[in-house]
Amino acid sequence: MKGYFGEFGGQYVPETLLPALEELEVAFAEACLNKRFQEEFNACMRDYVGRPTPLTHARRLSGHTGLDIWLKREDLNHTGAHKINNAIGQILLARRMGKRRIIAETGAGQHGVATATACALFGLECIVYMGSEDIKRQYINVERMRLLGADVIPVTTGSSTLKDATSEAIRDWVANVDNTYYLLGSAVGPHPYPTMVRHFQSIIGAEARQQILEAKNRLPDAIIACVGGGSNAIGIFSAFLEDPVELIGVEAYGRGNNKNAASIAFGLPGVLHGARSYLLQDKDGQILSTHSIAPGLDYPGVGPEHSWLAYTGRVSYKLVDDTDALAAFSLLTRLEGIMPALESSHAIAYLDKYGQAHKGRTVIVNLSGRGDKDLHTVLGSDL
Ligand SMILES: *Cc1c(COP(=O)(O)O)cnc(C)c1O
Repeated sequence: MKGYFGEFGGQYVPETLLPALEELEVAFAEACLNKRFQEEFNACMRDYVGRPTPLTHARRLSGHTGLDIWLKREDLNHTGAHKINNAIGQILLARRMGKRRIIAETGAGQHGVATATACALFGLECIVYMGSEDIKRQYINVERMRLLGADVIPVTTGSSTLKDATSEAIRDWVANVDNTYYLLGSAVGPHPYPTMVRHFQSIIGAEARQQILEAKNRLPDAIIACVGGGSNAIGIFSAFLEDPVELIGVEAYGRGNNKNAASIAFGLPGVLHGARSYLLQDKDGQILSTHSIAPGLDYPGVGPEHSWLAYTGRVSYKLVDDTDALAAFSLLTRLEGIMPALESSHAIAYLDKYGQAHKGRTVIVNLSGRGDKDLHTVLGSDL
């Protein structure tokens, strides 16, 4: 069925949004076939974002774990993470559709900053919904967005975090659908968003596949990526889905049982923000509150394609808790001179366990972002 990955995905939205999703789907399909659109996207990636990002051999971390480790350096993108790839792709699409008012949701502010950046680049109006709790916790990113010209609107419903900001952005879209483009930040939401976000992030996997073939003349044994909504993971996995390469997603185990954000490990199928997917919920279907030290992983749902890849077993999903993620942050910083985002630190942390069982294997880790944004958290911890 259209927009489904097995039983996951779909378009669970108010009826007034269905024509807007249809319009978006058609525009995206046309853009994919349009050579000029492709060239425009590629030129932005090269000249503005700074792509291709390197694939760095992590020599000392390899020695430490007994693996052969390569890092896909999304931390070196303009604005410091993979989110800009999707923000630029969707902004180009919004321009093609003639929409000049851009709205977005943000949790930690990373997607908000990427969206505000892309809007500044093209002179578009930018409105970012952000939970009032997150505004307090991530104030620097709020200031950044405002400097970039965005209007940051505090959301005080529910737990005043990402889930509520997303609901508010959807509400705005319903009310202003004619002139407004909703720029969703991960591979979640109703069809066509999960497919579209994967498309714009698949540049990560396409580059990494070519780079490892050039460096080693063979494919890697495994790819490891952290999973929040799942956009950096599906972006790198997409190039290897048909290959004999082990694919591993790492979810945030937070402080353990009942205090985590591991939707695939502990969730049940349910509907949130327009799609059916694994969801952290109680027995009455109420969304549970989540926790992760990595703000970008702190979300009760996951992209529907990941639910399907978990269900079919093509990708295995593992758990890393706050403590191990913090230790991995320090380890990569000391061994390689690279400070990873706390989200990416979850993927790095899993290498230890993987190395114990699979000595000598070649692994690519998607380093989804840089850790500068997390210094206050890291310094405030007990490490
Ligand atoms: C937002 C974010 C993530 C999590 O989002 P995905 O859609 O799962 O990729 C991971 N890493 C960084 C650096 C982020 O900013």
